[in-house]
Amino acid sequence: MSSNDRTLPKGVTAADFDKAMREIRAIVGAEHVLVDEEPLAPYNKIMMPVADAQHAPSAAVMPDGVEEIQRIVKVANTYRIPVYPVSTGKNIGYGSAAPVQRGQIVLDLRRMNRILDVDAELCTALVEPGVTYQQLYDYLQENKLPLWFSCPAPSAIAGPVGNMVDRGVGYTPYGEHFMFSCGMEVVLADGEVLRTGMGAMENSNTWQVFKWGYGPTLDGIFTQSNYGIVTKMGMWLMPAPPDFRPFCIQYPNETDITKIVDALRPLRIAMVIPNAVVIAHTLWEAPCTPVKRADYFTGPGAIPDDAVLKIQADHGIGAWNVYAGLYGTKETNDANWKIIEAVAAGTGGTIITEEASRGSQALQYRFDLMKGKPNLGEFGLYNWRGGGGSVWFAPVSQAKGTETLKQMKMAKEILGKYGFDYVGEFIVGWRDMHHVIDLLYDRSDETQTKNAYACYDELLHTFANEGYGMYRASTAFAEKVAATYGPVKRDVEKRLKKALDPNNIIAPGRCGISL
Ligand SMILES: Cc1cc2nc3c(=O)[nH]c(=O)nc-3n(C[C@H](O)[C@H](O)[C@H](O)COP(=O)(O)OP(=O)(O)OC[C@H]3O[C@@H](n4cnc5c(N)ncnc54)[C@H](O)[C@@H]3O)c2cc1C
Repeated sequence: MSSNDRTLPKGVTAADFDKAMREIRAIVGAEHVLVDEEPLAPYNKIMMPVADAQHAPSAAVMPDGVEEIQRIVKVANTYRIPVYPVSTGKNIGYGSAAPVQRGQIVLDLRRMNRILDVDAELCTALVEPGVTYQQLYDYLQENKLPLWFSCPAPSAIAGPVGNMVDRGVGYTPYGEHFMFSCGMEVVLADGEVLRTGMGAMENSNTWQVFKWGYGPTLDGIFTQSNYGIVTKMGMWLMPAPPDFRPFCIQYPNETDITKIVDALRPLRIAMVIPNAVVIAHTLWEAPCTPVKRADYFTGPGAIPDDAVLKIQADHGIGAWNVYAGLYGTKETNDANWKIIEAVAAGTGGTIITEEASRGSQALQYRFDLMKGKPNLGEFGLYNWRGGGGSVWFAPVSQAKGTETLKQMKMAKEILGKYGFDYVGEFIVGWRDMHHVIDLLYDRSDETQTKNAYACYDELLHTFANEGYGMYRASTAFAEKVAATYGPVKRDVEKRLKKALDPNNIIAPGRCGISL
């Protein structure tokens, strides 16, 4: 490869880059520094509808410890080389492990995978960024600890720190992950180490139990940002309930979303249903059942409604499929079960219990996620269309039936205009819904890739015009999504960046923040 072909950080000479890499090798060991194209390929594997080159890393570095990171950021400051931290690097559909901008060094924290503490009485854990949910699950099982946690769908390979700093969600009562984190350790751009909350105090033993500490609460600024590198995180675990009763309620019509949301919202707010309820559309369920799209439709454009109806009938899938659970004692769950039965009967839904669901892959992986059991059941989505293209469109909505119907119709219409299917679900927070849509396309097809970009762009702007912001976005659209939140917020973010990272060396461009 000639030096002209090399992927280098913007504005950095090859000579300076090489010098920096020599210094970083001396810190972490040569075997933990990758610069050649082939070993770097996994860090450039994206599913977003933009060119790989746009997100190509110049190197990947795997430190093992806070001190090594402190020394690496010093080198990065000297040579003005940006580093892009990833914990387990499985932000698939939001950017994966590829840096937000071409040429950044991926700071891969996978070797920092120690479970530092689990307190079974207080139900807390302290973990490093490389810890996966599967690892934590295995630890709890091996130590016979009756504790659960909340995890996202790709939990078998992803981890709590990366998920939480991107403000991801899961499916147990602790499903809003940032809310259930408690205390962080962060390496700042100048190499200082900050512990948030009670962790700032020498000898404190309340770091994992009291979130706020004294003065401004700083944890939030290290989520969906680039103000520091999170090296430890506390999280709350939940006691395994004596009785867990997951269920699915299926509804026959797309327009039923209105009554579903209006009937479930009060139960969720009152915590009769304590977990993050999922309301999944047929086309989310179908690929995970699994059903093949090609068996129902091979024409151009989006799959027509009559084919979707046929899938529902052939495979016993609802137009909407509601997943929730009761977590309590047998007595409390018996009482609340009557409420669930009445709601289902009153809204025209059909309940499927765990016993009745045997054999259904789609139902089983959901029921497992609702008790924090890691799996990869949702990866069936990628067989729907094939071709490895996926980008998440995730606007927030009020938990009101009319709002969800309006968003579903808007999304379906715009997706259909570009030939894409509505593969969506609503996840109920307490009063909000994360409306998560997987824009699936064939990335090996140039026209589909171009259309996917244009479609996402139109979704983004049309939703923003209606006042609907995104809860999270892929690195390819970070700048555009940030712009929809207005100039004042962005200016404050820039001022914080200038104060904390004046040389702009931590993930410039992430969530649209840069100098
Ligand atoms: C089929 C499928 C289903 C999915 N379902 C869900 C779901 O249910 N819920 C959900 O939330 N997501 C979901 N996702 C998205 C994503 O895969 C998960 O959120 C996953 O947990 C994120 O990967 P990670 O934990 O490895 O984070 P990483 O990839 O390591 O990081 C995520 C982001 O945070 C930043 N970051 C990571 N670590 C640090 C650090 N230590 N310091 C500073 N910044 C850091 C990174 O720069 C990156 O931008 C799904 C993806 C797929 C493919």
